[in-house]
Amino acid sequence: MDNTRTNPSAGDYLGMKATAALGNKSTQSKPIDVGIYTLTGLAWNQVTNGAAITSGKIYPEKPNSSAAAQKDVNAVASIDRLPSAGMKGTVHLKLLDPMNQCNASIGTPTNVGTAPNDNNGSLSNIDGKTLKFTQGSGINAWVKGTFATAHPGDNYLFAAHPHSGIASGITIDTTNPTTVADVVTGKKPTASSILEVWRTLWAELDQMTLPPNNKLHAGEPPISGIVQNGFNVACISVKKFTPNPKPETPGDEIRPAWSSTVASKYSAIRDSPSPTNDFWTIQIIGSFRHVDGAYGTYAANMIFIYGWEIENDYPGSVAAREETVLHEIGHGFTLLDSSPPDNTVMSSPAPLLLYQHFSPQQIRIIQAQSMPQ
Ligand SMILES: [Zn+2]
Repeated sequence: MDNTRTNPSAGDYLGMKATAALGNKSTQSKPIDVGIYTLTGLAWNQVTNGAAITSGKIYPEKPNSSAAAQKDVNAVASIDRLPSAGMKGTVHLKLLDPMNQCNASIGTPTNVGTAPNDNNGSLSNIDGKTLKFTQGSGINAWVKGTFATAHPGDNYLFAAHPHSGIASGITIDTTNPTTVADVVTGKKPTASSILEVWRTLWAELDQMTLPPNNKLHAGEPPISGIVQNGFNVACISVKKFTPNPKPETPGDEIRPAWSSTVASKYSAIRDSPSPTNDFWTIQIIGSFRHVDGAYGTYAANMIFIYGWEIENDYPGSVAAREETVLHEIGHGFTLLDSSPPDNTVMSSPAPLLLYQHFSPQQIRIIQAQSMPQ
């Protein structure tokens, strides 16, 4: 029996209850409503130190250390005062999937129509959980959720209500799919902010040795501007993996610079650890000159950039080379050339410096993958 008091006109109140003996049936108890407490907030906190995730971003990937903690997150509920001795209260959590928030410009997911269920992964142990407050527990209670699988662009929020029936009626607001609605009371439920799943694309930058008599400069491919911007809308951060030894160290360069057809011959000098350690790692090998008509190519997590045409058309243009890098990484994620050219970076042939973004559908393909092919 549970007559926990709730306030259906305001979904952000917490009913508190106590137990008392009923007559001579000393083994039975009856919950007694003892007061109304305000549910002051719901938040996502880090498991490792309890700090709030103010950025709204989580990277549930396996780093080189602290692997387990990266896959966990705390869903925290707070009330406005300590429960009295012998009293306890509960709130019921519901995990929800709002619309993708990486960037509104990427549009509606094509696979699910207008429904806000764009998640490809799963965050377990939060939905349907009940948090209990007692005097000893303080004003905060939480449950640890774990990302069983996660893809960039997945996002979650959780709502809560003291009444399990009302909690179960909370849903994503169809008119504003980044917020929640309460189909039972019609009031705005208490909900957390949105937590976005992000991923890191580690780029190991190497360079090829210079071809004979090459007047052009060989160097690392650039990834700082156009490449990062192209992936930001997909909730992917691009970071440089520092090889050891540096690619400039004699003997560690990719060679020969003008031979590109057999990817396996280069794998021996790959410096990054296994993709299972860094989730996504891709090797990008830069050379500013190769054969005529070749901008770049890719093979099995490796990208080769040839700059003869790029240098020819845009001498000294970092942007042209970086756009080529972004295009070739797209191939690494199984994207095909868009021919005839569309308005995406995968257009081929395309006027360089014109298209620097993936389409919404291309982003969905990238986000759904566990790692570059
Ligand atoms: Zn291409």
